[in-house]
Amino acid sequence: MLRPALWCLAYLGLVCLPLALSWLMAFPARSIRNELASGLGLLAFAIILVEFVLSGRFRTLSNTLGLDITIRFHQLIGRAALAFALLHPFLYDFLPGPERPWDTSRELTVTTDFWALLPGILAFVLLPAFVLASIHRDALGYRYERWRILHGFGALLIVGLLLLHAEAAGRYSEEPPLIWTWRILTGLAVLALIYVYVLKPIYQARHGWRVSRIERLTPRQWDLRITPEGHAGVSFQAGQFVWLNVGHSPFSLNENPFSISSAPTDDPEIGFVIKELGDFTGALDQVSVGDRAYIDSAYGSLTIEGRTEPDVVLIAGGVGIAPMLSILRKMTLEQDARNAVLIYGNRTADQIVFRDELDALQGHGRAEVVHVLYEPEDGWRGETGYIDAALLDRVLGEGLFETGVFVLCGPPVMLSSVETALMTRGVPASRILMERFQYD
Ligand SMILES: Cc1cc2nc3c(=O)[nH]c(=O)nc-3n(C[C@H](O)[C@H](O)[C@H](O)COP(=O)(O)OP(=O)(O)OC[C@H]3O[C@@H](n4cnc5c(N)ncnc54)[C@H](O)[C@@H]3O)c2cc1C
Repeated sequence: MLRPALWCLAYLGLVCLPLALSWLMAFPARSIRNELASGLGLLAFAIILVEFVLSGRFRTLSNTLGLDITIRFHQLIGRAALAFALLHPFLYDFLPGPERPWDTSRELTVTTDFWALLPGILAFVLLPAFVLASIHRDALGYRYERWRILHGFGALLIVGLLLLHAEAAGRYSEEPPLIWTWRILTGLAVLALIYVYVLKPIYQARHGWRVSRIERLTPRQWDLRITPEGHAGVSFQAGQFVWLNVGHSPFSLNENPFSISSAPTDDPEIGFVIKELGDFTGALDQVSVGDRAYIDSAYGSLTIEGRTEPDVVLIAGGVGIAPMLSILRKMTLEQDARNAVLIYGNRTADQIVFRDELDALQGHGRAEVVHVLYEPEDGWRGETGYIDAALLDRVLGEGLFETGVFVLCGPPVMLSSVETALMTRGVPASRILMERFQYD
């Protein structure tokens, strides 16, 4: 709990730093409206700059807070910054015209110089377009990779304009403490992009992998395995995911997040269960053994490592089984004494992956496995319907709600309904771990 709290404090400190510095300048006070206008502008710029490290690609951060939370925060706080930025010019209550020589600290006037305002005006137009394009990414029909590059470099353009605007038109930002704060923060934002788009790919190029197995498991799911080339592989915790790139240059941005389905062992080969969905996943039939692959790893906090609860309840919908397989396989290998229950939902029985392996776990008393189908074929004797509150009550004894750690992965609808059911049964958020496979 301490580390997330420290990150939150560091975040607040960073975005409030320009406000604190402008307050320390102790300029003659202006009307509340003018101070609010400047304050919102300063806050918006600082929030936008810190957004660069909230992209989910900084492991220390996203593994501590969780990828879902990091990305959701990035999205929501970005919208708040947009609102602050749009509001700030309209709040100024100023004397129009050029700067007055007698008003050296700009107590009564705000610059109306066109060239000082131009970068701000451009950013004012671009920022809403940028946020709207991010919110409606799917509707725009861009390939994900193209959207990513537009998002990164669009953000850089906006930040450049905001820097010019702050230095040319800002009352506080034209003073050295703030000028240098903005320059250093902008420099860090640029470094964040260089780290993700240049340094990471260079590292990946030197630590390549090869596809060692590609096999269809069910009509739309694949077992893909990769093995390291000339290095020791990757260290990860069961339940984590990597950014995987198969068959493209490490600099190409063609990488997608996939949970590792194998357990961390001495064998450096790692495996994935991948469901066909779009460009990359829909073309897995063209991947061959020997193809080059690259990974950026290991991310995610969907792991029971270090947890002390005596019961582990894994709830998976569809391909959400991938991280659960890794967790179960590790528990089996280590002969983990904890009691494990897997609730695994699918539409039909032919979508169940690694059924024999799961049945063997059940057979050996390693885990209780409950299959749930919502379109069962005639003769199906297992559970039917959706994984919901009624099913949890039926399958889990009351005691598990009090003692278990719950690990959830699957479609968003399932995640929300199971989370609500668990919380209404008194399971605290600290005992519910979740991962969404898609962020909007
Ligand atoms: C943490 C995490 C773990 C995942 N684990 C698995 C798994 O184990 N097995 C599995 O089958 N699927 C997993 N997914 C989902 C998987 O990443 C997408 O299905 C895949 O990226 C789709 O790519 P595509 O090119 O086939 O489809 P596209 O049509 O290009 O994308 C479809 C949707 O997938 C998402 N997506 C695509 N590319 C990316 C990207 N680079 N970054 C983030 N999201 C992207 C976007 O929401 C996009 O709208 C996981 C997703 C996340 C976020």
